[in-house]
Amino acid sequence: MVGDYIGRLAPTPTGRLHLGHARTFHTAWKRAREANGVLIYRDEDIDTLRCKAEFSQGAMKDLRWLGLNWDAGPDIGGPNAPYQQSQRTERYLDAWHRLKNGGWIYPSTHSRKQLREATESGFARQSPINEDEQDSEAIFPESWRPEKGIGQDATEPGDFNWRFRVPDGEVITFEDGYFATQSFTAGEDFGDFLVWRRDGVPAYELAVVVDDIAMGITEVVRGADLLRSTARQLLIYRALSAKPPAFYHCPLVRDESGQRLAKRSESLSLQALRESGKTASDLQA
Ligand code: GLU
Repeated sequence: MVGDYIGRLAPTPTGRLHLGHARTFHTAWKRAREANGVLIYRDEDIDTLRCKAEFSQGAMKDLRWLGLNWDAGPDIGGPNAPYQQSQRTERYLDAWHRLKNGGWIYPSTHSRKQLREATESGFARQSPINEDEQDSEAIFPESWRPEKGIGQDATEPGDFNWRFRVPDGEVITFEDGYFATQSFTAGEDFGDFLVWRRDGVPAYELAVVVDDIAMGITEVVRGADLLRSTARQLLIYRALSAKPPAFYHCPLVRDESGQRLAKRSESLSLQALRESGKTASDLQA
């Protein structure tokens, strides 16, 4: 009998997977299998400038080597195909229309570079450092927001960055399956965030929510670096009148110096381990 659980593996093919990914994806796989559920593989190659086909292929190979399997994905198809984000643009565009018509998002001429400069000069505030992400982020200055209603008659995203107008001061709370209760304050922990980039690429936050809704995901398992993103995504679910899934964030794997592993840390890539003759069971040791 198949349970009601639908989970997903959603790597971004901008580099090689490392041990941290192995741990998170293994957890996602295990939770789906233990629930007798369905596991979907989604290739998050939305940013075609940064993503490479070789990394998409490599990620699937690495995860199969780890012993993971999935019930739908780019290599095997499935009821919600296509499973590559680069092929799902019209769905994101449809969500863009809905968010725009609902007055949730606005077009901005301020670039991400300007935001970075404004942060360096102290004009834009920084969020407090988040323990799990070990990072803070620039809060998009309120004075850069256009008046409400601006952009609502646009027929396409055009040459603008579109941002979600966050409800300043609202505390977004959710129960995480691993980290328990999590709270983030809009306007303090994060500001107006990108949903569509001026180069025509939908932002991660939008694409992931649109796909998780379309694919009927019941639980999102991913790294703790995305805890704050979950708060943003909950705002998108609300704006789209969709029921959010459950969330389970996995602790990040750190190296000996306490730095979290990144795709740049080639040495611990799964491909390097695989090619050095290690087996997946060596990793569990
Ligand atoms: N594609 C994202 C990443 O590799 C994960 C997105 C998610 O699980 O929501 O970092």
